[in-house]
Amino acid sequence: MTKAQRIGIMGGTFDPIHFGHLVTAEHAREAFKLDRVIFMPAGVPVMKKGRGVSDKEDRFHMVELATKQNPHFCVSRMELDRPGDTYTYDTLKELKGIYPDAKLFFITGADAIIDVLTWKNAEGIGKYASFIAATRPGYDIDEAEKKFKQVNFPVEICYLEIPALAISSSYMRDRVRAGNSIRYLTDAKVASYIHKHKLYRKH
Ligand code: ATP
Ligand code: MG
Repeated sequence: MTKAQRIGIMGGTFDPIHFGHLVTAEHAREAFKLDRVIFMPAGVPVMKKGRGVSDKEDRFHMVELATKQNPHFCVSRMELDRPGDTYTYDTLKELKGIYPDAKLFFITGADAIIDVLTWKNAEGIGKYASFIAATRPGYDIDEAEKKFKQVNFPVEICYLEIPALAISSSYMRDRVRAGNSIRYLTDAKVASYIHKHKLYRKH
């Protein structure tokens, strides 16, 4: 009998992808013995409708550039190509249909994990996947843990400490807008793409 595949899903807006995302995915892969991690750029993130999110093809392309050197990483267009709003519940359900025998792990940063409680069909997600919540500077994972226990949330959540990397996409966008360097915050190919395509220059 072959061993069930263990698949990580790293969801995000990736506007742009940076080393915080990449190191989180890599450490989750190692710690939880994942066979691979699928990066899943969000189509129209419901939570981020307020601000203009960059073109999905630009975000997709940057994720491709940043992940293609890692044989365990790949990128999916599933959410980008699905019409309408993006809900993780729908994505996990669809993935479970494609990989019925695999164990799915949805990887999030500590800030994002607490939002899960407000997601569409939050309690139903446990049918399809477990969560890996990675620490992120400035966010208290114990608080999240307590909250989930309090509400008796029916989803398995594993916690993972990763080295403090306070990089965020907003920080990068602000730096580009101000004309500052983004070197060493993300893959050099992503930085070149941002400059070449003049992303994040204006509000
Ligand atoms: P923004 O600043 O626009 O919100 P972001 O850097 O938070 O962008 P997202 O695309 O929103 O990036 O994040 C996707 C996922 O990656 C989320 O689960 C988030 O918590 C996680 N993440 C982002 N940055 C880091 C980081 N530096 N360390 C660990 N996890 C991170
Ligand atoms: Mg974020």
